[in-house]
Amino acid sequence: MNQINRGVLAGAVACLLSLASACARRETPPPPAETPPPAPANYSMADFATVRKFDTHVHINVTAPALIEQARADNFELMTINVDYPDFVKLPDQHAAALAQIKADPERVHWTTTFSMQGFDKAGWADKVKASLAADQQQGAVAVKVWKNIGMVEKDAKGKLIMLDDPGLAPVGDEIQKLNLTLIGHLGEPHNCWLPLDQMTTDNDREYFKNHPQYHMFLHPDQPGYEDQIKARDNFVAAHPQLRFVGAHLASLEYDVDRIAAFLDRYPNANVETAARMSQVQYQSVRDYDKVRNFFVKHQDRVLYGTDLTLNPGDDVAEFKASAHDVWMRDWRYLATDETQRVEIIKADVKGLALPRDVIDKIFFANAKKTYGLP
Ligand SMILES: [Zn+2]
Repeated sequence: MNQINRGVLAGAVACLLSLASACARRETPPPPAETPPPAPANYSMADFATVRKFDTHVHINVTAPALIEQARADNFELMTINVDYPDFVKLPDQHAAALAQIKADPERVHWTTTFSMQGFDKAGWADKVKASLAADQQQGAVAVKVWKNIGMVEKDAKGKLIMLDDPGLAPVGDEIQKLNLTLIGHLGEPHNCWLPLDQMTTDNDREYFKNHPQYHMFLHPDQPGYEDQIKARDNFVAAHPQLRFVGAHLASLEYDVDRIAAFLDRYPNANVETAARMSQVQYQSVRDYDKVRNFFVKHQDRVLYGTDLTLNPGDDVAEFKASAHDVWMRDWRYLATDETQRVEIIKADVKGLALPRDVIDKIFFANAKKTYGLP
């Protein structure tokens, strides 16, 4: 750079500096930038209504919109699940109820269909089921449910219980995979089912098996054991590696988060949902808080939130809506906040896990969207 250019540059810099100081004199300097307080690591109860949520396990066995109304108020999407359960209305009525629900609010309500095991041994059964699943998908079904009647109730022509890994069920599994539907499996029962009532860890299990002795396997030692049920389910999941599988009720491994973790680690196509098993998780977190919290953090992409809320014909609608709101609030308090609440069915004060916000967003919403292939 020569002498003249250097002089020009120095002049320009001086000019800019004087302009800047003139500006500074003319304008009031902005107040010192306040650093916004860091967002809290976890949500509070006040966030409950504003965060998008998804209950992946409800049974709306009526056409009335009660649960939709509560879901709107509490910011939930819903998965209503048809299931071949004798305590519910018959399958065609459940089917009609589901169609009415998804029609009433297609963006909020989603539908899981099912099939009957009737005629399993007869020629053409699998083809009939395959055709019905394809037709249900055309009507809006995004998933299929198999229930514990497989493994605990339905028998083949020889009088033997049909387990999930029976070769006769393989074509149905293949079809669900081919149709790109998700399979929800409630196979077996909670571990408590194989214990006497007084040794069960939670009152809800005690109550259910007291009222349903036919499913209380402690009373039926001749039936397949707990590990037999788990094994048959695992065989089926392993045989359909492309199938999106959701283990309902924490895959019947609810009593031990280490076993749930091992299941998820072993089967990359599997997820689990929490329906009706939060108290068993709470039973564990009361004893080992960090272990349970770490489970949710580590497997944050594989756990879906669900409740098992059920609305049957004749139920008191106002009472049902209040109890749905209560269940959702209690679960939010437990998973999202660090508040302590009394959980009577395990007779304990349970401290919330205060999971990080991004973990809650996945468990309460994003994982459901992904697992059910929803936009
Ligand atoms: Zn259910």
